[in-house]
Amino acid sequence: MSAFDVGALRDLLGPQGVLSAASDLERYLVDERRLYQGQAAAVLRPASTQALSSAMAWCYAHDVAMVPQGGNTGYCGGATPDESGRQIVISLERMRRIRRLDAGAFALTVEAGATLASVQAAARDADLLFPLSMGSEGSAQIGGALSTNAGGLAVLRYGTARDLALGLEVVLPDGRVWDGLRALRKDNTGYDLKHCFIGAEGTLGVITAAVLKLFPAQIQRATAWLAVDDLAAACGVLAGLRRRLGDCMTSFEYVSGPSLALVLEQVPDTHAPPVNAAAHVLVEVAAGAGDGLRDSFEQALCALVSEGLVLEAVLAQNDAQRRAFWRLRETIPAAEKQLGGSIKHDVSVQLDRLPALERDARCAVLARVPAARLSVYGHVGDGNLHFNVLAPAGSDPTLFKAAHAEAVSALVHAAASRLDGSFSAEHGVGKLKRELLRDTEGPVAIDLMWALKRAFDPRGLMNPGKVLLP
Ligand SMILES: Cc1cc2nc3c(=O)[nH]c(=O)nc-3n(C[C@H](O)[C@H](O)[C@H](O)COP(=O)(O)OP(=O)(O)OC[C@H]3O[C@@H](n4cnc5c(N)ncnc54)[C@H](O)[C@@H]3O)c2cc1C
Repeated sequence: MSAFDVGALRDLLGPQGVLSAASDLERYLVDERRLYQGQAAAVLRPASTQALSSAMAWCYAHDVAMVPQGGNTGYCGGATPDESGRQIVISLERMRRIRRLDAGAFALTVEAGATLASVQAAARDADLLFPLSMGSEGSAQIGGALSTNAGGLAVLRYGTARDLALGLEVVLPDGRVWDGLRALRKDNTGYDLKHCFIGAEGTLGVITAAVLKLFPAQIQRATAWLAVDDLAAACGVLAGLRRRLGDCMTSFEYVSGPSLALVLEQVPDTHAPPVNAAAHVLVEVAAGAGDGLRDSFEQALCALVSEGLVLEAVLAQNDAQRRAFWRLRETIPAAEKQLGGSIKHDVSVQLDRLPALERDARCAVLARVPAARLSVYGHVGDGNLHFNVLAPAGSDPTLFKAAHAEAVSALVHAAASRLDGSFSAEHGVGKLKRELLRDTEGPVAIDLMWALKRAFDPRGLMNPGKVLLP
């Protein structure tokens, strides 16, 4: 694209709406995991849906490919432009207004560039709860979370991003705006279009705003750190707590001994939990008004200790201790990054097959690289494991990943596939897992996905090369 073309976009978006100097573009061109380094002709930073609509109509007319970007925390390279230098990045960072909060309807309308943390805060200010929560919530945006159908730490109770969206506003590749911003809990008028855009990773249009579900605030909450023998025991604890406590469990997070050790070794201000075991669980329960949650939780845990499923349990005594427990879970990705990163996997199977998945993947990976370090943790309450493989102590992580990533990932994904699981529970496909999608979904599913893509984006200008392999 020539300087003149950027000028045309600047006319539409204003001086703050277009970045084109190399030093300004840098941070938009590399992904969170530093797997991809792209180039771009410009970064567009629209301040309104209307301005974005005009700019996208211009790009469509001039055959310019567009790459939407939210907080750029995604794990699969979906928000990074290719290396041609001809694509433009569309950043939603200036569109972060809360448009309205309807407390009576338990609904909040927000622009797509608002971070998850800011939406949580807006709900909290109205004594309500927006439950989507994850380690990246300070940067990840609502648009990115919806586009990846993010999961996070409270899926067990509240579902994924898809379950939290009531309505969407989307700019289509040719600049037309679809206004689906309604707060209806029931609406069976034809195809539910919002679900096409949720999880589409920016390949069908740009989400500019959303109506999100809110929930009553959690007035009572209790958090415990549990010591268990292994993942099978953790799954037994999950079933036991569900039967005893019903639906009040919000999070059930597994942390293997080695993952905890990485955090304690790499992350400042973390302290070993007051229990000692090969594996751990962080569990949180919550409820609205009324009393007795903590007591019922304690009784349920005591019963599981007597049954021998829980070895030890510590209930957080105050918010500082709760936060300290959560920090041990949430900083595992940072600890891995500190050591040069890991070969990451985000696999899921139906709940009762999790121990088999972990065992099969472990045996396969260690048979190939006996000294590899495994960091296994995740949202076990959702049947989702992060099965990450780090370089042996003392060896170069970059060389290790170059030599083993492909083969190790094939082994882990094969283990998930044998158990009828998924290779991408919550991180999406992006650029990283396109081959896997093509090879595992079967021809009918891939044909349908292409039909959808062509219907929304006939000229192939919307985040090309992501999700579906050209
Ligand atoms: C420390 C850490 C912890 C994490 N924990 C979790 C977790 O628990 N659960 C989980 O699911 N993920 C997790 N992630 C991954 C990541 O944070 C999520 O995928 C998040 O939803 C991405 O949001 P984002 O705004 O950063 O999107 P980006 O990374 O900017 O983009 C992701 C994809 O969405 C598209 N996109 C972004 N905005 C829009 C828009 N407005 N319209 C259309 N398309 C758009 C992009 O083109 C890209 O394909 C974690 C990441 C980190 C770094």
